[in-house]
Amino acid sequence: MEDHLQMLGYSRGRTARDADLVVLNTCVVRKHAEDKVTSNLGYLKGIKRSRGMPIVVTGCFVGDNTEELRKLYPQVDFFFKPGELVEFVNWLNHLSPGALRESEKSKAVPNPAITAYIPIIQGCNNFCSYCIVPYRRGRERSRPLEEIVLEAEKLASRNVREITLLGQNVNAYGKDLGNNYDLCDLLAILNETKGLYRIRFLTNHPKDMSPRLIRAISSLNKVCHHICVPLQAGDDDILKAMNRHYTLGQYKELIQQIRQEIPDAALSTDIIVGFPDETEAQYLCTYNAIEEIRFDTVHVAAYSPRSETLAFDKYADNVPAEIKMQRLLKIEHLQESISGEINNNLIGTEMEILVEGEKNGKWYGRTYSDKLVFFKSDDNLSGRLVKVGIEKATPWSLQGSSAVRVSR
Ligand code: SAH
Ligand code: SF4
Repeated sequence: MEDHLQMLGYSRGRTARDADLVVLNTCVVRKHAEDKVTSNLGYLKGIKRSRGMPIVVTGCFVGDNTEELRKLYPQVDFFFKPGELVEFVNWLNHLSPGALRESEKSKAVPNPAITAYIPIIQGCNNFCSYCIVPYRRGRERSRPLEEIVLEAEKLASRNVREITLLGQNVNAYGKDLGNNYDLCDLLAILNETKGLYRIRFLTNHPKDMSPRLIRAISSLNKVCHHICVPLQAGDDDILKAMNRHYTLGQYKELIQQIRQEIPDAALSTDIIVGFPDETEAQYLCTYNAIEEIRFDTVHVAAYSPRSETLAFDKYADNVPAEIKMQRLLKIEHLQESISGEINNNLIGTEMEILVEGEKNGKWYGRTYSDKLVFFKSDDNLSGRLVKVGIEKATPWSLQGSSAVRVSR
């Protein structure tokens, strides 16, 4: 979206108050996220009354319900479903040119970002019982390989050095196209992109991560050793009720295979606590699994009942909010100490960082394994690959020395 807007001369504004156009990209995976969308829409209604700027809404807030949304939110000029980029571009082209001030047009700069996302597959066929995504994003639809490769080449020619391929289940990439190519083939082709240094991708589904993919990650030099495999729960009955199609044992086997093939793999995961009927003992299975597996990053969410989903119809949301919160905080606390230990072990090592920018007088960037590193340098290092000695660590980031070696 940003790409198309930039081509028309738009640039990123600071706030909705001084914007010529507002694009609200939404998430409704949890009730709290959906509430934020509706409150934002209320806020924008007030601004629109005085300034009249067009408002566009997309993301999972927009399903097949656009008629209803149009009635509820007359302040919105255009709704489009995730992935309906063509419709958005057509709408933009018809938008009165007066929406963009001439003076602003000349200020528009090409995208200076070093990293970019490329969606490769929309939708999901998995129907995890708690999840609203398949209802809002529909079935899996892969983008043609040639289109993705062209996009990556275009981004690389504009100095983007790292791409992250996106999909709800990237392991399903290509299945619906019937061309016999899959994520491994796509990665192998993208690995040859001139000017591109790094490739990441998310999210994997534990039941679909193949040995071939693990080998591709370990053998393709640009594919980062940073793997996101959501566990969701550590108890087999809960996993079954979640409709995840694997057991904790199978999950641990997968992790073992990954670590055997890629010893320095940084693993991240997602967890839901307080799923309906989750007992203390079942929760402890999740807690113990996190303690045992030692992920680099864990995102924990409290179960949020979403209408339309199987779990919403079948189970009562019967774990009290305070218990959910206690369980969530306990896991966050555990993970903080694990991440702290993992990061402390990096002190004294040298790590390669792709520099993304400068903040508060320090350069920052990420390692191959997705660790955030800050360091000082007088040189402009944006977009460069540099080697930095790690001097300090917290659970969330690393601090590097100012003696920097530029590798590319
Ligand atoms: N496709 C990915 C991620 C989907 S949504 C996967 O299979 O894991 C991102 C995360 O939101 C999920 O991993 C899950 O942890 C969380 N999530 C999804 N639905 C939720 C719900 N109803 N309540 C709480 N967390 C939820
Ligand atoms: Fe939702 Fe991910 Fe399950 Fe698909 S695989 S239903 S997006 S949690």
